[in-house]
Amino acid sequence: MIKDSYDIIVVGSGLGGMTAARRLAGGDRRILLIEQHSQLGGLATYFKRRRHIFDVALHGFPIGMQKSLRKYWGKEFAERVSQVRSIRFNNPQYKLDTTFDTEDFSAKLHGHFGVPKEKVDAFFAAIANMNYYDQNQETTREFFQRHFPNRSDIWRFLMEPITYANGSTLDEPAISYGIVFGNFMSKGVYTFIGGTDCLIEMMEKSLREYGVQVECNAALDKIFIDQGRVRAARINGKEVACRALVSNGSLPRTVLEWAGKEYFKPEFSAGVKDLKLSSSSCQVYIGIKEGERLPYIGDLLFDSTWPEFDSEALLSRDVSSRTYSVYYPEIRPGSAAYSVVASMNARYEDWDGLNREEYRAGKKALIEDTLDALSLHLPNIRQIADYVEAATPCTFERYTGHVRGATFGSKFPGLGYSMGLHNEVGGLFHTGSVGIIMSGWLGAANYGVITANEVEKYLAAAG
Ligand SMILES: Cc1cc2nc3c(=O)[nH]c(=O)nc-3n(C[C@H](O)[C@H](O)[C@H](O)COP(=O)(O)OP(=O)(O)OC[C@H]3O[C@@H](n4cnc5c(N)ncnc54)[C@H](O)[C@@H]3O)c2cc1C
Repeated sequence: MIKDSYDIIVVGSGLGGMTAARRLAGGDRRILLIEQHSQLGGLATYFKRRRHIFDVALHGFPIGMQKSLRKYWGKEFAERVSQVRSIRFNNPQYKLDTTFDTEDFSAKLHGHFGVPKEKVDAFFAAIANMNYYDQNQETTREFFQRHFPNRSDIWRFLMEPITYANGSTLDEPAISYGIVFGNFMSKGVYTFIGGTDCLIEMMEKSLREYGVQVECNAALDKIFIDQGRVRAARINGKEVACRALVSNGSLPRTVLEWAGKEYFKPEFSAGVKDLKLSSSSCQVYIGIKEGERLPYIGDLLFDSTWPEFDSEALLSRDVSSRTYSVYYPEIRPGSAAYSVVASMNARYEDWDGLNREEYRAGKKALIEDTLDALSLHLPNIRQIADYVEAATPCTFERYTGHVRGATFGSKFPGLGYSMGLHNEVGGLFHTGSVGIIMSGWLGAANYGVITANEVEKYLAAAG
């Protein structure tokens, strides 16, 4: 049962919220973690249908996640991190397999794309030298043009996986591209053996062991602020006192809806109101019949019929590009199950406002088109699939409360508002996917730690 008061309330159980709570736990502080949904994980979630388990956001993360899991959650988490075998690209400009690490990417840029070795090295050196604190205004487009002028095939090779991972475009700061790409590029792409269900279960157990009270089906709808400081939160209608509150939910809703713009400087609340959110996603989940097997078609398959990289085309409801994540039984040792999850970047407005019939028809078309497209790689997919379902931006909005179903937080400027929240209202913090750099499993988890450290500082200073 939720008590009358806590030292810290963490709102939301995404990887940012849970990691912040875990980092703050273990001492004398009374910590409550609430989640509006019936299950923890936020976007890093899974669902079970019949005998299938579908991972929503476990397609791949950088090696840095292993270090973060070891450091902030324990070695039993880190030991489950395993490199995916290969990533396959299939589009009109090139077809190739890569392990997605610096060595293989350099070899492909040189061997397949014919770029002189010194130019490849100069590109990777430029990525390695990028620093968040640099005041570099260059866009990713300008950065690519400088290194690989007019090579739309190379731009696609370098950009498409990142766009799938965080919804970014060529017209955003090169620094946000460079940091995310550099993280992935160090040593390839990794997954979590046991699947998302295993990870979230382990995290919940650890939080409880460290004394965090974890409550699902618990929604915050008001943050009370007194004399410039957080005083309490309203959770499922009950006022609960706290000294600090960490919101892992939507940044605009935290400021404008749950706290109220009157508690912030006008330029701050106006900036949050005008924040550009990231795009959203659609997914199709395909469960394979018991006893059937899939041939190896890559762990991740970036498949497109579009002539070249085009972030608008990637968002179109008329889908021409998909990422397939193929889950072979090794992901869940002891199981013989196969599944495929197709992910597409998507626009909220293409799905919001449809009537029930249109929405159903839209989902059905999404599923049928995906099965057709996948049959190029798995010709018998319709015969061997025994469960198919689709998610749209509206699904993501419904399950996470993110405005417009934004699946990767906000664009770059959001980071400044998120990090600056506690300078506006004492004891009010934000964590989770924001500003492109802090998005994804690694970004969100690491941001949880950064925020937890700020909370510690605040509480120590407040006495
Ligand atoms: C389709 C898809 C595929 C992805 N694939 C990958 C991938 O392969 N690799 C990778 O690294 N990243 C991937 N990501 C991104 C990654 O999953 C997210 O960046 C990360 O999980 C977000 O964590 P977060 O801390 O921002 O919290 P979120 O996951 O956004 O969770 C926020 C939580 O807060 C809760 N909440 C909101 N409002 C309230 C309230 N009022 N009261 C209580 N609780 C509330 C929500 O219910 C939610 O559980 C993917 C995302 C999507 C959508």
